Amino acid sequence: MRLPVFHASLSPHAWTGQPMNAPRLTRRFAPVEMAATSSAGHSDEHVLEPAASATVLFVDQSGQLGGAELSLLPLAERCAARSEVLLLSDGPFRARLEALGVRVRVTSNANVAAINREALRPGWLRALPGILAQVRTIAAQAKRFDVLFLNTQKALVLGALGKPLHRRPVIWHVRDIMTRDHFGRVQLHIVRWLVRHVTDQVVANSRASADALIALTGLPADAVPVVHNGIDARTFAQVDASDIRALRHRLGLPQDAWLAGLFGRLAPWKGQHIALEALARLPGVHLVLVGAALFGEDDYAQALRQQADRLGIADRVHFAGFRDDMPAWMKAMDLILHTSTEPEPFGRVIIEGMAASRPVVAAAAGGVLEILRHRENGWLVQPGDVPGFVEAIDTLHLAPAFARQLASQAFSDVQRHFSLDSYLRNMTRIIAHTARDEPSADR
Ligand code: UDP
Repeated sequence: MRLPVFHASLSPHAWTGQPMNAPRLTRRFAPVEMAATSSAGHSDEHVLEPAASATVLFVDQSGQLGGAELSLLPLAERCAARSEVLLLSDGPFRARLEALGVRVRVTSNANVAAINREALRPGWLRALPGILAQVRTIAAQAKRFDVLFLNTQKALVLGALGKPLHRRPVIWHVRDIMTRDHFGRVQLHIVRWLVRHVTDQVVANSRASADALIALTGLPADAVPVVHNGIDARTFAQVDASDIRALRHRLGLPQDAWLAGLFGRLAPWKGQHIALEALARLPGVHLVLVGAALFGEDDYAQALRQQADRLGIADRVHFAGFRDDMPAWMKAMDLILHTSTEPEPFGRVIIEGMAASRPVVAAAAGGVLEILRHRENGWLVQPGDVPGFVEAIDTLHLAPAFARQLASQAFSDVQRHFSLDSYLRNMTRIIAHTARDEPSADR
């Protein structure tokens, strides 16, 4: 499969054949040979590994373990011999990277870290000195590498702004659905400008993320390659789930209860409150919430406990906190639930649930629609539709053979379409390609 690769530079020339408001880009189609996944789930072995020679500086704004960081982990490991990760905040992500042999640096600034969707305007003024310092730090580090890979939005801003200093090609991994539903006008404007004028390559984690970026920036529709996250299903198959009772005992979960597990950080848009509402109408079901408030959503975490009390279901709701051993936790469940109220840019928890051979019930929006097919390899419900979630969970609870059938199809699909191997090959190909096509003059 050959996918187009998009390059933009600071060219003053308008791109001919485009409307007046199209981005002023020099654009080349330089197709990348993408790894195809065989029906057995393994990429073509004859495709050569291309990242062998490119050196990469990865930048990520978070030290916490969210989806962005967990998908960077295996990529940074794959590139470890010739790369480094620069974190803009310290946290457990650093230790996880180091344990895999990845070199890590941390450059943190409390004022920059405090800028978020809500506090963009007051935040950035206060943080200006810190922003400038971080732009300079990233640029100084980037000069030691062939290519700069920016894994999050804040990393995009700080890494791309320093391009006149580092003069390295910039890749942005788009992992958000960049629309007004989710982001402020100013934030969208900044991203739009940086992508149109500074970034050399973008790669999206889903068609949903790619389409939103294309609509925002006016990039040609074929300019944003999509590389879905991949996981190693073998780590799930290795969990000895033959004795679920023993596994539940080890994890401190109720023994004989029928368990629906919702995995993800506690945050309003992840919709744990929707799951609690549904649970109140499902007397025979327990809910396990696996995840913590990673980015300051402690009030929401508290509100969930109060909601469980108010609904009289506290004895059937189990707050497990953040956990590292996802395969075991997923295998200990009877069903995996996903209740995000906003379109999920991708949804790693869904492919993990599929790899655990569990039936997945998920909110039908965003990247989820690229993974699940209703009643074929999972069950889709409209976001926020509490009766819809009740019906889905109840049906799968009462029809275990059907639940097993969905899970079995899901396991086969995840191996075929979301393998870690394909993800790594395609990402490393894009990195190598960008490094090769944008040689830096001052190395
Ligand atoms: N996760 C984890 N421990 C937890 C809860 C979640 O390791 O206690 C992981 C989960 O397995 C998944 C990731 O966090 O790999 C969340 O990624 P997803 O794409 O679902 O959501 P995001 O964090 O990107 O919004």
